[in-house]
Amino acid sequence: MAEREREKELEAIKEQYLGCKKPKKQVIKPSEKFRSFDWENTEDTSRDMNTLYQLPHEARPLFGRGFVAGMDRREQKKAAAQHEKKIRAELRHRTGAEDRMEDDDDLVGKKNAAAADSYDTFDMRVDRHWSEKSLAEMTERDWRIFREDFSISYKGSRVPRPMRSWSESNLGAELLLAVEGAGYRKPSPIQMAAIPLGLSQRDVIGIAETGSGKTAAFVLPMMSYIAQLPPISDENGPYALVLAPTRELAQQIEEETVKFANCLGIRVVSVVGGQQIEGQALKLKQGCEIVIATPGRLLDCLESRYAVLNQCNYVVLDEADRMIDMGFEPQVVAVLDAMPSSNLKPENEDEKLDERRIYRTTCMFSATMPPAVERLARKYLRHPVVVTIGTPGKATELITQNVMMVKESEKKFLLHKMLRELGDKTAIVFCNTRESVGMHTKDLANKGFRVMGIHGGKSQAKRDISLDGFRNRHCNVLVATDILARGIDVPDVAHVINYEMHNSIEIYTHRIGRTGRADAYTEQQSCAT
Ligand code: ADP
Ligand code: MG
Repeated sequence: MAEREREKELEAIKEQYLGCKKPKKQVIKPSEKFRSFDWENTEDTSRDMNTLYQLPHEARPLFGRGFVAGMDRREQKKAAAQHEKKIRAELRHRTGAEDRMEDDDDLVGKKNAAAADSYDTFDMRVDRHWSEKSLAEMTERDWRIFREDFSISYKGSRVPRPMRSWSESNLGAELLLAVEGAGYRKPSPIQMAAIPLGLSQRDVIGIAETGSGKTAAFVLPMMSYIAQLPPISDENGPYALVLAPTRELAQQIEEETVKFANCLGIRVVSVVGGQQIEGQALKLKQGCEIVIATPGRLLDCLESRYAVLNQCNYVVLDEADRMIDMGFEPQVVAVLDAMPSSNLKPENEDEKLDERRIYRTTCMFSATMPPAVERLARKYLRHPVVVTIGTPGKATELITQNVMMVKESEKKFLLHKMLRELGDKTAIVFCNTRESVGMHTKDLANKGFRVMGIHGGKSQAKRDISLDGFRNRHCNVLVATDILARGIDVPDVAHVINYEMHNSIEIYTHRIGRTGRADAYTEQQSCAT
């Protein structure tokens, strides 16, 4: 007994010193209320008591045509088709049209499934690139990608689709043959966008970089329009008119037009200043379908009744902004006013057009479109579609632009050095005034360069000799004022040298655009001090 006492004592000492005994856990007894706790019926969330929540609906993205990521598409499609079938049946039931045939239902279901299949264009595994698709297979998304691929953007309503290739255009067999003859294998982006617009007689403002083939973009639909009309008999005037700011540009447009006109038997006359007016009057008298003109001389012809424009319902203003810059706006307005205004399309866009009537189509094309042109556009264009290729006013990426910082006194020597390095290649040197063109032409000729000069103060014959000489490579350096800055297309110009910088960025863009044309890779240099 004493032993047990002793053991207990030891245990107590051990406990006291070593503290090894665990404290007893406190157990709180549940209160009476807590013990009687049970889930109530209303707290059961496994199945909702509210009937509204007993029938959950799947979210139907894009009204049942879209998909939820990460779930089997086929299953989703099937469910969507089933859902639609159910809804249709319900609707029919409600409207009391149950007596329709049962397999009608199946047909609708199948149709829906097919529709769901064709809608599934977002599935990259089955979708092909637009270039592999036929025209009928093109979806809205393909067209969007197509426009992005070529940087085509539109502003305007009811825009017809662009054409993807020449064969898909509605130009007609003869014109297509002529296009092939000209060696144009693929249409350029501005042609893809503007030709369908021109063919549907829409007014267009086309903005695309220099050398991108704007001329053909307005000439081809114009031809197609004229081809539908009877030939002009005598002095009844042209069916179509192209206005350009400079004589050289007008002549160049004439050359491009003649390429396509011959196959259709369309006659083209250019009416530009600097040549005998009588000769031009005679050609107009003999009858022609297209007139290409500078505004001043055309106005002279209209005033002296050599030309009439009462049948002319297709007008193109090429480099429209330049014409306004040069102060030709009154002449342009006078020419446009000489046309029958009764043929302008109605102001109200929603008004229905009379299909048997001919309406006037007016287009403007340039690489830059400053706000000053808008005044003219508002007055003479009806609901125009503005087509922009790339960023307006941006020079083409084919051009490398260099700035060279030199002292005024060293500028000349740098120019000489650059021109000596040309070899067989050609260069255009831009100056701001006629005087400095004259001076530098002489100076460079004295230094032994094969050089010619061109500016507005020279006679037309001399201007022609200079430009032709440069085109035919009799000379390889052309010193010019801004009359050459716009639209002039000389193949393979290697360098454009802005010997005297112009203070307008638009002129600069056009100047350097004389190189890097139709996909040639060339270089542009600017000289600044
Ligand atoms: P822009 O008026 O846009 O400055 P142009 O109409 O003068 O350009 O055309 C520049 C050059 O490109 C011309 O020599 C023209 O013959 C050529 N060209 C135009 N369209 C095409 C095409 N689809 N394929 C190949 N060359 C073309
Ligand atoms: Mg042009």
